[in-house]
Amino acid sequence: MGEFIFWIIEKQEVRMKKLFKAKNILAVFSLVLIFWGVSLSVRADEGMWPLSEIQKLNLREKGLRMDPSLIYDPAKQSLLYAVVQLGATGSFISEEGLLITNHHVAFGSVQAASTPEKDYLKHGFLARTRTEEIPAAGQTARITESFKDVSTEVLSVVKTKMSPAERTKAIERKIKQLVAAAEKANPGKRAEVAEMFPGKSYWLFLYTDLRDIRLVYVPPLAVGNFGGEDDNWMWPRQTGDFTLMRAYVGPDGKPAEYSPDNVPFHPKTYLRINPAGVKEGDFVFLLGYPGRTYRHLPASYIAFEQNVRMPAVANWYEWQINLMEEMGKTSREVALKHDARIKGLANTMKNYRGKLAGLQRLNYLAQKEQEEQDLKAFIQADPKRQAAYGEVLPSLERIYKEMELDYPRSFVLDNLRRSVILFQNAMTVVEATHERQKPDLERGAAYMDRNFNRTRQRIGLTLRASFYLPTDLAIFKELLKKAEALPDHQKIEGLSQLIVSGNNLDEIANNIFQKTRMQDVEFINTLWDRKPADLKQIDDPLLKLALALYPEYLKMEEANRARKGQLDELQAKLVDIRQEFLGQQFIPDANGTLRLTYGRVEGYEPRDAVFYKPFSTVQGVVEKTTGREPYDTPPALLELVKQKKFGRFINPELKTVSVCLLYSTDTTGGNSGSPIINADGELVGVNFDRTWEATINDFTWSHDFSRSIGVDIRYALWILQELGGASHLLKEMGIE
Ligand code: ASP
Repeated sequence: MGEFIFWIIEKQEVRMKKLFKAKNILAVFSLVLIFWGVSLSVRADEGMWPLSEIQKLNLREKGLRMDPSLIYDPAKQSLLYAVVQLGATGSFISEEGLLITNHHVAFGSVQAASTPEKDYLKHGFLARTRTEEIPAAGQTARITESFKDVSTEVLSVVKTKMSPAERTKAIERKIKQLVAAAEKANPGKRAEVAEMFPGKSYWLFLYTDLRDIRLVYVPPLAVGNFGGEDDNWMWPRQTGDFTLMRAYVGPDGKPAEYSPDNVPFHPKTYLRINPAGVKEGDFVFLLGYPGRTYRHLPASYIAFEQNVRMPAVANWYEWQINLMEEMGKTSREVALKHDARIKGLANTMKNYRGKLAGLQRLNYLAQKEQEEQDLKAFIQADPKRQAAYGEVLPSLERIYKEMELDYPRSFVLDNLRRSVILFQNAMTVVEATHERQKPDLERGAAYMDRNFNRTRQRIGLTLRASFYLPTDLAIFKELLKKAEALPDHQKIEGLSQLIVSGNNLDEIANNIFQKTRMQDVEFINTLWDRKPADLKQIDDPLLKLALALYPEYLKMEEANRARKGQLDELQAKLVDIRQEFLGQQFIPDANGTLRLTYGRVEGYEPRDAVFYKPFSTVQGVVEKTTGREPYDTPPALLELVKQKKFGRFINPELKTVSVCLLYSTDTTGGNSGSPIINADGELVGVNFDRTWEATINDFTWSHDFSRSIGVDIRYALWILQELGGASHLLKEMGIE
């Protein structure tokens, strides 16, 4: 932080010298005040930096010892190639395609591979040889190969007379064309265009997708998920949240679906592990794929999130979790179906509650509103600005208000698709049969040739791993009740046959679920090539319901497109004018593309008189252990601690094994599994979470309270060696 402020001050001095030449003392004086204000408010370590920007960061001055061009330089074997998108993030740690990520990132695949007899989720998993490695269902490891700015091409299709919906459509079409052209020119690669600043800048990324990923080592749940939901988003933390997987390719070295003939992938680079770890104060950086942040959006958006969307979603998820936990009490087999879903829902629910608490604590909405008052005054002070930007904030307010009014209805429609697996299947069939009549580039993404196989496969996987009819039915009934309670002007047309006064919705839902075949993959597979008109002839009540609701979804999609067209234009202008007003250049919000963030290993003060130290230790594991989930530490681990069998993975400062650590990087969902890398470019830990106060990172980051949480690599190595008996893997990682 110190160095960064120096850098700002140096820049100020250069500017001041220029100004002195102009002998405008008054201007200099006011500029000093303004710049001091800026430098004091500069949040030194904020930023999820696109790799194209990192040369500007002067990372050497911040503490990096390696050559920054070895992180990213298209001409070199950069670290970039060692980091993969794997649901969230993972990284290669051997030349034989060994990957490290989080236990919670692999959770769904471990669940899918588990049965009550072979419960890898509960007891963990170790492949002693390559042939024992098992497919990690649903996982793809994506490597970023290159990227380039295509904003001019994308925006060239926008014409002034277009309606907002036409604008969005034109941009969507252009993006699809660019993707198709890039994939044609680079056979075997996947292309995606990412919106960096909505409505303003677009980047084309080229990826290699490795589709045969296998489980290699999974710690027992009581280690990998120690503390469970109680401790999630919390510090102090003692979760061994790591897992090892391996990427395979066809014998020709090209990405391929699973086959026993496939061979381990050889990455261009992999991360060396430093088994000595880090200590307090050390510089660290992370490479990863952060999902979404919303730092450039207006107060009206924050109000919508705070007052409407987040509370509704958190309550809805809580309702579903309670239901699934209740269902799971019947048997381990049933519980296994729900484990990954519960984990995902609980993670988001608690995150939203943390964010809501953070918004209150910081009084963030009021702060944002105040900033916008000042911004409005700045806009009004100049007629040209007024003409260009005067309408931006009021229009955004109007749109978010509209979304608020619309919310209860769109909530039902969205969640029917999202939460009811059988309805989701029916809707996918209906959409597929309609969309697949169109030329490839005109279709919704899931139905384009490049994605359609995955779309179909996902149905089978979800049914196999997560479907339990009584749960699905209960969620369906609850949503029908919510639909019934909608005010008249929001009624959902497609449900009007069912929701008639006097009808017993529970009975209707029971009947639909009794008769539908949307849980039968073989049956579903016979429907993909049907024509929309044929579907109407099929006697399946859920399919019929999906057909009746299809026009509603089309309307909603069109409305969302129109809204996006408006929002893109307004948000782009908002970014421009805020940059001018604040005298800062923003970096784009997180959008699922590869980013770098840096900071130091350091604790913080979450509240008055409390300081959180940056390392937790195995003593903390012992202290928290109750013998009951989620604090049911394996006895063998307790014994190792008792006997002080710390060996070479001891933390020399703490004289014990450190488990987790805190550091001041800027992370969000998707950064799970990101390698924590030291100043020399070596892996020293694996990121997996943020603290309670940092859940608000998605809206605002502060050095005072934003801390990320990772598992110390020494703990992972210690577990692998002492508890897992996986010395062969340590050897593979170069730890002899
Ligand atoms: N736990 C998060 C994830 O799953 C990481 C974070 O949100 O900080 O990606």
